[in-house]
Amino acid sequence: PYNFSAGPAMIPMAVLEQAQAELLDWRGTGMSVMEMSHRGKEFTQIAEEADADLRELLAIPTNYRVMFLQGGASSQFSMIPLNLLCGKTQADYFNTGIWSQKAIAEAKRYCSVNIVTDSTANKFTTIADPTTWLLNPDAAYVHYAANETINGLEMHTPPDVGNVPLITDMSSTILSRPIDVSRFAAIYAGAQKNIGPAGLTVVIVREDLLGQALPFTPTMFNYKVMADENSMYNTPPTYTWYLAGLVFKWLKEQGGLVAMGKQNQHKSQLLYQAIDGSDFYNNAIDHRYRSWMNIPFTLADEALEKPFLAAAKQAGLLALAGHRTVGGLRASIYNAMPEAGVCALISFMQAFEKSHG
Ligand code: PLP
Repeated sequence: PYNFSAGPAMIPMAVLEQAQAELLDWRGTGMSVMEMSHRGKEFTQIAEEADADLRELLAIPTNYRVMFLQGGASSQFSMIPLNLLCGKTQADYFNTGIWSQKAIAEAKRYCSVNIVTDSTANKFTTIADPTTWLLNPDAAYVHYAANETINGLEMHTPPDVGNVPLITDMSSTILSRPIDVSRFAAIYAGAQKNIGPAGLTVVIVREDLLGQALPFTPTMFNYKVMADENSMYNTPPTYTWYLAGLVFKWLKEQGGLVAMGKQNQHKSQLLYQAIDGSDFYNNAIDHRYRSWMNIPFTLADEALEKPFLAAAKQAGLLALAGHRTVGGLRASIYNAMPEAGVCALISFMQAFEKSHG
C-alpha cells in the first residue's frame, strides 16, 4: 500500500527496516535506543550524527544553531515571538493558509501583527503580487509558511523582504529540495512529514538572534537555553531523534537534496498533469504556487468522493481524504513516496474516471 497522508506520513521503507533490525539491540549494546540514557556515549553519538547529517544535507552555515525540540511546529508559533521579537513590538506575517492563521493567532498574544498579504479572499489559491505587499520596516521579523499543507499552496522561493529577518514554517517542505539557509533568520519544522515520526521539531536559528527572549518566556520555550544545552535541557525525544537520523542518512544515500528536489518536482508534475488533463478532477491552485508535497484535488461530482476514497483504499492507496476543514481529496507525496506510488495513484484515477465519468 501507498500512504498519501499529510502527516504523520510515510517513512522510507529502508529506514523502517533498519529500525526494526536494530530495535532490540542497538549495535551490540544490548539496549534498544529507547532505553539509552540521553547523556550516555551511545546516544550522544546518535544525536551528534543526526545533527551533522542535517547540517550537511541543508548546508547549514556554522553561525546557525540546530535544535531538536518537542511540542510540534505549533509550539513554534509561540516560541518565535517569545524569542525573536528582539526588543521590538511588531511582526509581519503572510496569511497564505490555515497554518499561517494559526501562527498569526499565537503571535498576537505577544506583539502587534501586520499582515503582509492576505489570501483569504481568493480561498488560499494564490498569493497577491509582491508589489502589493505591505512590509513594515519596523517589524522584528517577517513570518511565512513556505508550504501550506492543507491548501497545497507553496512559495517555491523565499519572499524578498529586504533587511527584516525572515522566518519560515517549513513543516511540510523541509528537505524536499536544497534551500539557502542564509536567507533565513529561523526555520522550523515538525518532523512528521519529511524528517521522521511525530514528536520532534527541528529549529534552525541564526546564533546572533539568541538570548533576547521575552522575560516571561518559559524555560522550555527559550531557544538560548535549549541551544546551550544541545537540546537536552530535559529528556529529549530520543527514539524519534534516532529515527530522524536514519532518515537523514537515507536522504544522503539518495543523492541528497538536489536529487530529492528533482524527484519531487517530477512526481508532482506527473500528478498535476493527470489532474489538468481531465475534466473529472480539478486543482484550483495558481500554477506558480502549486505545492510539490501536498496536492489537493476535487471531483467534478462531489458525490463521487466517498466511492473514490473507498475504491482507492481497496486498491492500497491510503489516506487520500482532504483535510477535515476543507474536504475534497489530497495526495501528500513527501520524500518517502516513490514515483511508483504516484503512478499507481494516476492509473487508479484514470480507471475510476473511466468507470464513473
Ligand atoms: N505548520 C504546518 C505547515 C503544518 O503542516 C503543520 C501540521 O501539519 C503544523 C504547522 C503543525 O504541526 P504540529 O502538529 O507538529 O504542531
